[in-house]
Amino acid sequence: MILTDGLFLDHRRCPRRAHLNFYEPLEREAERGFLTKLRQESAAQVRTVLENFYPHSRELQSSQKDFLTRTNETVHLMQEGVECIANPNLLFEDSTNGVTFLGTPHLLIKVSGESIWGDWSYIPINIQLGRRPKPEYKLIASYYAYLLAKIQQKSPDYAQIILRKNNCYRVNLVEWLPRLERALSDCLAVLSKPQEPEVFISRQHCNLCHWYSHCYAIAQDQQHLSLVPGITPSRYKSLQSLGLSTLDSLVEASPSLLEPIFGRQVVSLLKLQAQSLQEKRAFIKSKHLHPQLPSSLWEFYFDIEAEPELDLEYLLGVLLVNTKTKELKYYSLLAESPQQEHLIWRQFLEIMEQFPTAPIFHYSEYEPETLKKLAYRYSTPTPLLDSLLKRCVDLHQQVMCTVIMPVESYSLKALANWLGFVWRDPGISGDQCVCWYDDWLKTGERSWLDSIVRYNEDDCIATYQLRNWLLDFLTAPNAN
Ligand code: SF4
Repeated sequence: MILTDGLFLDHRRCPRRAHLNFYEPLEREAERGFLTKLRQESAAQVRTVLENFYPHSRELQSSQKDFLTRTNETVHLMQEGVECIANPNLLFEDSTNGVTFLGTPHLLIKVSGESIWGDWSYIPINIQLGRRPKPEYKLIASYYAYLLAKIQQKSPDYAQIILRKNNCYRVNLVEWLPRLERALSDCLAVLSKPQEPEVFISRQHCNLCHWYSHCYAIAQDQQHLSLVPGITPSRYKSLQSLGLSTLDSLVEASPSLLEPIFGRQVVSLLKLQAQSLQEKRAFIKSKHLHPQLPSSLWEFYFDIEAEPELDLEYLLGVLLVNTKTKELKYYSLLAESPQQEHLIWRQFLEIMEQFPTAPIFHYSEYEPETLKKLAYRYSTPTPLLDSLLKRCVDLHQQVMCTVIMPVESYSLKALANWLGFVWRDPGISGDQCVCWYDDWLKTGERSWLDSIVRYNEDDCIATYQLRNWLLDFLTAPNAN
């Protein structure tokens, strides 16, 4: 078996993904645009760091695909005592369990200390896009240190990570090598069995995965409990131990069986959520948990599109609604270049001032947090910001406090789809818009912006429809 650093990382994110990549690599879907963008940004960052800080590092000469020759070349350069080796290939064959370990850190740096080569050895450096040293970064850096220790017969004193803004972090190998060994053994145990690990759909891990359609179809077919909001992997394990693994079984389970494990409140919510999905209808959780939804002649529905890499809020989408006439007017405040963010912020403030008592509905914490960020960035007076924040109404919070809906996730898209709202361009996400905005900046092709604006306008209209539904549902005389 050949275990690469990529496969090992896949296993950390989802054992099933590593297994599918290992056994059925040709079956997977194409990489999502947003992941391609991240990969390109990461490669650009590696190039920048190498050019700026390690201009004299030695590159391997052989083709990227010829890993055996690259491995030999790497060994050769280490034997020679080259100060700094860029994109080396590390290979270690463990004959005891028949596994070949492969890894390509971004750099090897020569340091003093006896090794198989003489009175020098190497430490690995990895360049990462993130701002903070995530556990995943530390684990993969430890993996390279582990391979180096086998190859040069000297354990590196530390492994280094270069983060965004060139912040350096040293991984404590005393702490991380034992964790690595446990993780490697788990990974090899999964990959050595032909049986694929069970599906578990989690928004965090699955959304961008190239096996999503495949896994989602299986989960639906099995009525898998991971499709029930609130079922975490650890709750799922506990339910399995009670012999419950489908939606129907959860609906029918006696609360007295579940309450000793999960507590009364959680059981009542999980069962109601399962019932809602089974019967395809919404339930009221509480009419009183949250202040009433404000109503006003004029209302705003607000949604933002951002480019995190540029730290840019490039589209402030505002839908103005006259609740009496039901007239809708959409404003797309669009920064066609990063320099125009200031301009669209001013336009936004002007529109808000024209209707100073209109509530501002939105569907996440992101909008008020962004208002604070932009106000700070452009020195907006604090009283003005405070008055905007007081008008903000987070519909997501309102929904979560008051109702249970027959959806697999409480995203705006899932809720609005259940209400019958359809986005004009199906299958688009905020991540996709980030890629489109980058395409616009690179090519000047206007159709990218048009697609983003259409998507944002639909988000605002969906928020408006959700608010109408919620108000009607909560105030209906026969509401359950
Ligand atoms: S879709 Fe989810 S469960 Fe399936 S392989 Fe990907 S991360 Fe794992």
